[in-house]
Amino acid sequence: MSNLPVIGFLGLGHMGLPMAINLHRAGYKLKGFDVVPAAVQAATEAGIETVDSGADAAKGVDIVLTMFPSGQHVLDAYRSYLLDTAAPNTLFLECSTIDVAQAREAAELAVAAGHRSADAPVSGGVVGAEAGTLTFMLGAEAADLAEITAVLEHMGKRIVHCGGHGSGQAAKICNNMLLGISMIGAAEAFVLGERLGLEHQALYDVISTASGQCWSVTTNCPVPGPVPASPANRDYQPGFAAALMAKDLGLASSALEHTDTDAQMGALAAALYRKFSDEGNAGTDFSGIINAVREGTL
Ligand code: NAD
Repeated sequence: MSNLPVIGFLGLGHMGLPMAINLHRAGYKLKGFDVVPAAVQAATEAGIETVDSGADAAKGVDIVLTMFPSGQHVLDAYRSYLLDTAAPNTLFLECSTIDVAQAREAAELAVAAGHRSADAPVSGGVVGAEAGTLTFMLGAEAADLAEITAVLEHMGKRIVHCGGHGSGQAAKICNNMLLGISMIGAAEAFVLGERLGLEHQALYDVISTASGQCWSVTTNCPVPGPVPASPANRDYQPGFAAALMAKDLGLASSALEHTDTDAQMGALAAALYRKFSDEGNAGTDFSGIINAVREGTL
């Protein structure tokens, strides 16, 4: 018999399935569930034990891990069946990217129902989920850290404890707000460079070693050529899809509003990515926004 905790794993989508597979390979007993039968089927084919309902996934487990599209999915599942079904003191590990206020609400509901709670959103995308190299931004009580880390380290290579409940989500949206702003800045700089007669490589060689240096240029460079692995070299196949950037910037906008923060660049980046995504580019890598900058259609 293994001493490892039993994990109810709900949400076996693009991210959840490879994360669940990594836990399964590490020897954890899982009770997997997704509302989409094909997702359950894919998990079964990967050797993961699956159950017939979300409530069943919370029965007889030590940890309930959720990887859902939105905060409303999380709150609905918590309220409707997860919190009631789980045994007292179950650890609710919420890994979706959701609104900070909803993350705090979910944690309050879990604690009020006699459970423990942590938010652990990720960065690293599907590639990181498959490779087990995600970064987790953790909002959790210090007393639960060792238990949480022992599980997360099978799915990620970096775990940053950001503070109490909701802090993981807070850190994630602050980072992604900066990423959205910096990518638009990088796109504008390269388009301006083109019009001033600069070769992409020459401008890259300067920016990547000068004060404009940032991940949007050195890793996810929006023009083809200088960074061979960047999505620009494969017609902007993601990578990190514009729809996900628009979602995360929407969460950042909501947090700006809640905290009465006058962040004009963040608000503008949110509006521009929403427009870009809605105008037929939802599945394009977010660096593809350079084409809209070049065409003047933003
Ligand atoms: P996805 O839509 O592929 O997967 C979500 C899954 O949750 C779906 O299969 C859906 O059927 C399932 N689901 C919804 N409600 C459910 C319920 N009540 N019970 C069981 N299953 C339920 O999304 P994804 O790309 O896997 O992303 C999941 C989360 O991770 C999102 O919050 C997203 O913002 C975040 N995220 C995604 C990426 C990425 O690159 N895809 C990167 C970082 C973070």
